[in-house]
Amino acid sequence: MPELPEVETVRRGVDGLFVGDTLVDIAVSGARTVRRHPPERLAELRGRPLAGTGRHGKYLLTRWDGGPELVVHLRMSGQLLAAAPGTGLVPHTHAVLRFAAAGELRFVDPRTFGELFLAQPGRPELGHLGPDALAVTPAQLSAALAGRRAPLKCLLVDQRVLAGIGNIYADEICFRAGLRPDRAAGSLRPEEVATVVGATRAVLTESIAARGSSLADQQYRDLFGALGSYQLNHRVYGRVGLPCPSCGQPIERVPIGARRAFMCASCQA
Ligand SMILES: [Zn+2]
Repeated sequence: MPELPEVETVRRGVDGLFVGDTLVDIAVSGARTVRRHPPERLAELRGRPLAGTGRHGKYLLTRWDGGPELVVHLRMSGQLLAAAPGTGLVPHTHAVLRFAAAGELRFVDPRTFGELFLAQPGRPELGHLGPDALAVTPAQLSAALAGRRAPLKCLLVDQRVLAGIGNIYADEICFRAGLRPDRAAGSLRPEEVATVVGATRAVLTESIAARGSSLADQQYRDLFGALGSYQLNHRVYGRVGLPCPSCGQPIERVPIGARRAFMCASCQA
């Protein structure tokens, strides 16, 4: 499932290729892809130049001259792919945005959990999200974790607490911060919360530089269909039984509520 670094990589691709270009047509074939409002409403975007892009957590935002924002959420298996006009559609292509100059932007989603929608002014649809994980401050995270008995990992992946993190980066952040993912979140001291914020920025920034993580299913692709490479730098995620890169002890997989986490029991306290 794409997390913040993967969505940010796609956003940068869309920004570089399509901003300033005019949308000629938008065609939607998947009913579930546009499910929050009638798909015909997307016609409001026709003829408008793409003015810019943004992102909050795992949501990719596109801004159009004089029009509403179009929000893209990739969820489990969604991909945004650039393509030359008229080239064959891959299976599970649910929406095609055709631009005047730069070709097509296609939304492909085999599992159909992803979606496109036009945001209302002020974006109330994203009102449930906490601060973006790249921008969160220690004070904000302290306030969100205070008094919580839930495990640290469960709160890091809770989009209401912090927007953008999922299973992979929560484990990598806990390792980088030297904290057990099953620590009661409210037990973190202020300096430990600051360490989590620093580790979050470091891990996410490194992953963006590596164009995100593609796992064995190779489902995550960037705008040009290329795989990310940060999976080669994962220190704990998916590495059960392999030596910890810091101390050499085997990485463990521990249950945390309904989830699991990969961790090093000697490096994380
Ligand atoms: Zn270790």
